[in-house]
Amino acid sequence: MGSPHAIIIPYPAQGHVIPLLALSHSLVAHGFKITFINSEFNHDRVVASLSKGGDGVEGIHMVSFPDGLAPGEDRNDLRKLTEGFVRVMPRCLEELIERMNTSGGDRVTCVIADGNMGWALEVAQKMGIRSAAFWPASTAVLALFLNIPNLIQDGIIDANGMPERSETFQLSPGMPPWNTSQFSWKCARDLEGERIIFKFITSNNQAMELAKTIICNSFYDLESPSFTLFPNLLPVGPLLTSQQIGKAVGHLWQVDTNCMSWLDEQPANSVIYVAFGSLAVFNQHQFQELALGLELSGHPFLWVVRRNLADGIDDAWLDGFRDRVKGQGKLVGWSPQQQVLAHPSIACFLSHCGWNSTLEGVKNGVPFLCWPYFADQFLNQTYICDVWKTGLSIDPDDRGFVPREQIKEKVDQIFLNEEMKARALMWKDIANRCIKEGGSSHKNFKSFVDSMKE
Ligand code: UDP
Repeated sequence: MGSPHAIIIPYPAQGHVIPLLALSHSLVAHGFKITFINSEFNHDRVVASLSKGGDGVEGIHMVSFPDGLAPGEDRNDLRKLTEGFVRVMPRCLEELIERMNTSGGDRVTCVIADGNMGWALEVAQKMGIRSAAFWPASTAVLALFLNIPNLIQDGIIDANGMPERSETFQLSPGMPPWNTSQFSWKCARDLEGERIIFKFITSNNQAMELAKTIICNSFYDLESPSFTLFPNLLPVGPLLTSQQIGKAVGHLWQVDTNCMSWLDEQPANSVIYVAFGSLAVFNQHQFQELALGLELSGHPFLWVVRRNLADGIDDAWLDGFRDRVKGQGKLVGWSPQQQVLAHPSIACFLSHCGWNSTLEGVKNGVPFLCWPYFADQFLNQTYICDVWKTGLSIDPDDRGFVPREQIKEKVDQIFLNEEMKARALMWKDIANRCIKEGGSSHKNFKSFVDSMKE
């Protein structure tokens, strides 16, 4: 028998491409050949950042599918994006598998799809190919999604996912509380969009039943009540590429690695790392206030100012700011975040609390300042602040605004909080034990690999 050959398909967004590439690398190390599917739009960006950075993706064959949107369309509009790829990608996948299986090359032996790409699991089923689902967000989010029929039955939401009233509830004791205003499908731009995303989630739930296994980027100790509720979910995380191959891959932006030598020059435990992932957007006023808050804090800071981090960045103002804080802060367009968080100079992480950023902070024992933007990020904040107790929340006022003084105050609090740092280090230790030989995630990963090879 030849090598196992897996087709791997992330949802076409940064926070999905990175962990699925990490998974791909782990599978290559276990003898798998990988065909990795990006949308054309993301493929071009991933390849551009790879070639400039000189990174290789050995053992991983990168392929692209159209996403059904026109070149200039807004891919941050999740409804549009979802409607687009669902229309065109299933046919592309069928054709690719047919081509691969008749060309005399490596037959496709399994499909591993993002749990948010249920259509791929349906294609695998139709073509008689074994499949698995990978869950890239917290297991608590998956538990919520899988509980949708109960939420409807209990009158918490209607059949379209709309909350019947404003309330906070728990799925089971020990799980973080949910507020009905913070459901992930509420991240669409209008009511119609929310309904469409909700429908998409319920159809993904059904598709996941076709998967032989559902693996999660998490670990037992981190979310044990969720795994008690759904014992069939298999945690294999935290999956991080930089730990496996010494560098992160799959970036949609050019990585500025110069910040690593800047970090080398900073004292241990002194730097605030500030990054809000790939999608969060600030308004101009808040963006500038954040900058002034960082300056006011007096601490060194490394701030990722993604090209589209604010709705219109005043370049002249930003240049002035950059000049003024030259001795204190460094601004980059996109950082090698996993390496940054592992650097001894990092003292805390001012974060939007995307799940990958959350896990990366946990894995490296870094306390958080939480400033969630949308979707599951509010739940991740609850985990950090109230369950694991490894961070503090930034609290916008009634107008949704955070003044610079609060930023300074919270930074001061986190720098002084030794207990929080100790707890963050405890979680780091647990996370590292889970992924070491003999650890729970490591064992789960091995049994997953075996089941995909059978
Ligand atoms: N990231 C990075 N450099 C940056 C900002 C983010 O490498 O400057 C990576 C980060 O390490 C994480 C991913 O981008 O793996 C963002 O995923 P997350 O789930 O945190 O947030 P999202 O972008 O989905 O909102």
